[in-house]
Amino acid sequence: MGLTRPSKVVCVGRNYAAHAKELGNALPERPLIFLKPPSAVIGDGDTIILPPDSKQVEHEAEIGIVIGLRLHRGDEAAARKAIAGVTGVNDVTARDLQKSDVQFTRAKGFDTFCPIGPRVLPVGADFDYRTLEVRCRVNGQERQHGRATDMAFNIPMVVAYISRIMTLEPGDVIATGTPEGVGPLTAGDVVEVEVSGVGVLRNHVASSGV
Ligand code: ZN
Repeated sequence: MGLTRPSKVVCVGRNYAAHAKELGNALPERPLIFLKPPSAVIGDGDTIILPPDSKQVEHEAEIGIVIGLRLHRGDEAAARKAIAGVTGVNDVTARDLQKSDVQFTRAKGFDTFCPIGPRVLPVGADFDYRTLEVRCRVNGQERQHGRATDMAFNIPMVVAYISRIMTLEPGDVIATGTPEGVGPLTAGDVVEVEVSGVGVLRNHVASSGV
């Protein structure tokens, strides 16, 4: 299946202990969620534009989940049935603005800050999400490598949890958190996010020119 612009992108923060620690945070007691605007979404091969507002834009490679069936207040079994497939997400973040603002909207919401793709790996209700891994490379150098088995909150649990807050619609994307190793992106970089079975999501990075 292909990717269309989602009605929302829901992200999970601090879902890997080692990443929470590298930013000086404790693991949350329940999933910490926030939104990225659909206007931030770009595809494989598109360019991430560094905004003049930030001096510290970083990559966050994440396992993405694409919803196939509407889900409202579902349990984990219902969440498994509602998931269409797995993809790659780069939760691009202006780390300096994330630290200076009380909440994440500005830091996570710039246009082009949500590459998704390159495709959706279809999965069934019995898929073993624990087999998934995610890697990030910048200019060919590996920066991040995480395994779903290291998540604080597993994928069906996270999808069910979010559906108790907001109805998930077909095409919606959930970014399930980033492992340790986040780091800077600068103009001219090529950043890649690779999720098991999905392929490589590759984006160039450019200055806004402003
Ligand atoms: Zn993230």
